[in-house]
Amino acid sequence: MKKENTLYIVVPCYNEEEVLHETTKRLKEKLNKLIKDKIISKDSRVMYVNDGSKDNTWSIIKEINNKEELFTGITLSRNRGHQNALVAGLLTAKEYADIIISMDADLQDDINAIDEMLVKYSEGCEIVYGVRSSRKNDTMFKKITAEGFYKFMTLMGVDIVFNHADYRLTSKRVLDEFENFKEVNLFLRGIFPLVGFKSDVVYYERAERFAGESKYPLKKMLSFAWDGISSFSVKPLRFICALGFIILFISFIIMAYSLIQKVLGNTVDGWTFLTISIWFIGGLQMISIGIIGEYIGKIYNETKARPRYIISENLNESKKNK
Ligand code: UDP
Ligand code: MG
Repeated sequence: MKKENTLYIVVPCYNEEEVLHETTKRLKEKLNKLIKDKIISKDSRVMYVNDGSKDNTWSIIKEINNKEELFTGITLSRNRGHQNALVAGLLTAKEYADIIISMDADLQDDINAIDEMLVKYSEGCEIVYGVRSSRKNDTMFKKITAEGFYKFMTLMGVDIVFNHADYRLTSKRVLDEFENFKEVNLFLRGIFPLVGFKSDVVYYERAERFAGESKYPLKKMLSFAWDGISSFSVKPLRFICALGFIILFISFIIMAYSLIQKVLGNTVDGWTFLTISIWFIGGLQMISIGIIGEYIGKIYNETKARPRYIISENLNESKKNK
């Protein structure tokens, strides 16, 4: 009989002392059920990642680890932010697991979606994205800003899954490939679609936080959004070039207009020359900055040193292994 797969659930925690016990209770039930149903192996675990919390989060995690067989944890030397904490957890967990699911400590993501994610995995999907089916529980403000963010990212040419946060199943193999993306500024939602492989989505309703408060105030949200754009897109640089050409074009119209005015005698001395110069030089400068931008864009892409391609299957190898 085929051995069951080992599942690790990676949960980043920053100042989450209020929610940890409840989260542990709910995840324990879930894991036990999955183990009982022989969907996952007995070695499956929940791995908490303490992201340099200032409260008792780490001591609670250690206490849970002592009491509960299914729970383990790692801690970072200081607060490095949600995305880095996630990466630390994912890359640690992949050494022990076949399947890794990441989710938030506040269980806003419906843990019942795990079952469906595992079904998709058994059907051959290597990445399963959890997607929120509605935002009923969000404030109007959060809904508009968050959905605007996804739309803007797509406009900027970043390939992301609409309304998908970091609730996601990945196979060990995907994480092995993901490890080759060496960039330090991480925006996970943009990278996983780049890794590729067969993927699917699972819809779920996102609940409200049952305790504690959001660790993502507006300021962090904005810097996160900007990080996402600036780590994936050179479009802002392209805009400068386009703007330069537009201004240069306008400068020709202004040139014609100014000359006509001069011929008609509607101008004071020097006006025509000054107006034409300002617009023409403005356009030229903007184009020049845009060209420099194009080269910086190239340097930026090269420094990321992303893998050029990932081979998902090699028939020659599969024959040899038979
Ligand atoms: N988190 C983290 N490091 C941080 C901020 C947040 O590990 O610096 C974790 C946090 O503990 C939670 C997850 O990231 O598990 C998402 O945070 P939160 O629920 O506050 O965000 P929201 O759901 O409000 O967007
Ligand atoms: Mg939350």
